[in-house]
Amino acid sequence: MSNYAKKTCNICGMRDEQPYMHRVQKQVNSGSSNTGLAKRTMLGAAFGNEKSQKAVGKWALSPSKRNYKRTREVWMCGKCAGANTPSEGSVMFGLCVIVSVPLGILYWLTGISPFDIIEWFRG
Ligand SMILES: [Zn+2]
Repeated sequence: MSNYAKKTCNICGMRDEQPYMHRVQKQVNSGSSNTGLAKRTMLGAAFGNEKSQKAVGKWALSPSKRNYKRTREVWMCGKCAGANTPSEGSVMFGLCVIVSVPLGILYWLTGISPFDIIEWFRG
């Protein structure tokens, strides 16, 4: 018997108890709070319409762009949360390999360990 609330996966909609779900930071397009630039305005500016050009200039200079992203916390099932972040893990793994392989070869060839290098850098 559990008292856990059920959470719904943001990706596949599966429902499961909270401990089995993952809280994931998701970048969501918060949409256009403003209308932004109409295609007609862009076209007008391209064809030398002064009013349109002013609108484009104002849009380009405005500090907050119309379409901005914000981070939202969502719940995902283990499958979707795992599927959502494989690239990050593999990038880290790749970096580790890239760093450790030459160091390993160096150690194998010269007997200088990475720790010696760190000590050497520290002075
Ligand atoms: Zn899911």
